[in-house]
Amino acid sequence: MRPIATLAEIWSVLRSQGVRVIWDRVVWHSGHFPKNSMIAWMAALGRLPTRCRLISFGWNIDGTCLLCSRELETRDHLFFVCPYSKCVWEWVLRACNFSKPAMELDRELSWVCANVRGKSFLSYLFRLAWNGCIALLWKERNRRFFTGACRPKAEVVSCLKEVARLKVDRFQGIRRLQPEWGLQERIFIWFCFDYLA
Ligand SMILES: [Zn+2]
Repeated sequence: MRPIATLAEIWSVLRSQGVRVIWDRVVWHSGHFPKNSMIAWMAALGRLPTRCRLISFGWNIDGTCLLCSRELETRDHLFFVCPYSKCVWEWVLRACNFSKPAMELDRELSWVCANVRGKSFLSYLFRLAWNGCIALLWKERNRRFFTGACRPKAEVVSCLKEVARLKVDRFQGIRRLQPEWGLQERIFIWFCFDYLA
């Protein structure tokens, strides 16, 4: 007599049956910073507690964006419609030789999925920068929310480069490999040294 259910069938029911998203490889990749990936993941899913979201939960708070003090703080405004975050992300784009304006998060993420592929060093750096940029902007937003202290955009960019540098330094002999990998000097400098493009 056949059992009611096999272990495989029970496991199949218990485990998440969610649809795989196309951007999981952008957010989760080898060598990522877990905390940054988690924040980028929550942002992509629309789960970060933005002021607009908190208001929808019944919080009686000011909904103005903490980064620009102009618009309602929605997810799409924070990433990357807000002039502050737009400027930081476009800094990354320019440093990676992409000449395009920043878009709101879903469209930007689709663009990244379509244009940043493979296992090249540049692809790795770009995905590192994606997570780092979202995480640092969110942390800057929280810093303003909890302490009122504000950092200029250039300081956030410097922190972003530091995040990338921590990982880049782990690549053995990366300076020697740079020409072979076709990594452009400007990009290499931007990520590896304290230089503002
Ligand atoms: Zn703003």
